[in-house]
Amino acid sequence: MNKQLNNPFYLSTFDLPRQPGASKDIKLELPLDELVGTQLQYIEKGQKVSFEVTLDSVLEGIYLIGKAETNLKTICSRCAKEFNEDISVNLNGFYPYEESALDFDESLDVYNMVENQYIDLIEILRDSVSDQIEFSPLCSDCKEIVENHEEGDPELSWTYSENGINDEKDQVDDRFFNLLKLKEQLAGND
Ligand SMILES: [Zn+2]
Repeated sequence: MNKQLNNPFYLSTFDLPRQPGASKDIKLELPLDELVGTQLQYIEKGQKVSFEVTLDSVLEGIYLIGKAETNLKTICSRCAKEFNEDISVNLNGFYPYEESALDFDESLDVYNMVENQYIDLIEILRDSVSDQIEFSPLCSDCKEIVENHEEGDPELSWTYSENGINDEKDQVDDRFFNLLKLKEQLAGND
């Protein structure tokens, strides 16, 4: 047997009868073995994620509906302050039995099963988290400053230099570059 299939994030659909109406509830708490997200907003490697999902069998495949609860780490794109928040991510995916069914509903996020038998929870978590991640996340202080001042407002630049952010400008730009690349990679995985 393929060693990869021992991956704890692969849900087996072996015992889910392939007939409409069959259903299976799964609760699972696991630490991540890789970082999920971007450099500015991510779930850390080793962070526990609680999955609560239902697999519903239909004629063409399996629906996965549920949520994942975990802790998201954010680095403010403006002042580089780090903060954590508990998040709940909705998971919705469709796993067709036959690849030919892939185009049957375009409103769904459709995934291939691994070895036609396993659902990769990390794949759907990664997608769902990337939908929630902000391109330039802000801490509550910066959010308030940005919301209360128009772009180009001298008040904004004053705060920037007061926090010494101007000195780190190049570093921040690098991060955005990497973030862009990551976003492209994530989009390419669809
Ligand atoms: Zn900030």
